[in-house]
Amino acid sequence: MDIKDLKDQFKLRLSGVEDGTYCYSIECNKEFFELAEISDVRDGNLHLRVEMEKTEKLVVLNCHFEGDVIAPCDRCLLPVSIPMDFDTRLIVKLVPMVEEGENDDDDDIWVMDENTYELDIFHYVYESIFLELPHRIVHEDDENGNPTCDPEVMRKLEEMEKAKAEKEKEMDPRWEALKNLKLD
Ligand SMILES: [Zn+2]
Repeated sequence: MDIKDLKDQFKLRLSGVEDGTYCYSIECNKEFFELAEISDVRDGNLHLRVEMEKTEKLVVLNCHFEGDVIAPCDRCLLPVSIPMDFDTRLIVKLVPMVEEGENDDDDDIWVMDENTYELDIFHYVYESIFLELPHRIVHEDDENGNPTCDPEVMRKLEEMEKAKAEKEKEMDPRWEALKNLKLD
């Protein structure tokens, strides 16, 4: 799928569409995550189901996200699969004229011109997934409370930390000053 086709999936046509309920199904896969660049997420398999209820003055989008996204572990940098299962709702008010600043306050309520041709929910989907990401992404501990991170990588990281600390100690001028004090 090229980038245009991928992005077109998130454009829900309003113009000429009769009032009623419509369902859309969108797969957010590796191509989507590489394009969207949501934080460090570069892969995943997230199914998005959008139910659009359209009336003359109002469009309600009920979105259901289910699947997982893959991001690097904060500790060992190897990929972690993060399960996701959540719902969001976007309300779009259709008005004859949009006043300036009317859209500034709320991400979940949009005010749009009633002649809007289509809704582009790409960024809305981006934000929704971003907000669901945990603050800290790490491999879970096992039943004994030990990290399940890659032991080889962890060992190397520890060595690097140690070497860095040693080097900083050497370069810290206060240590030099202390040495001189001892000489006196
Ligand atoms: Zn890890």
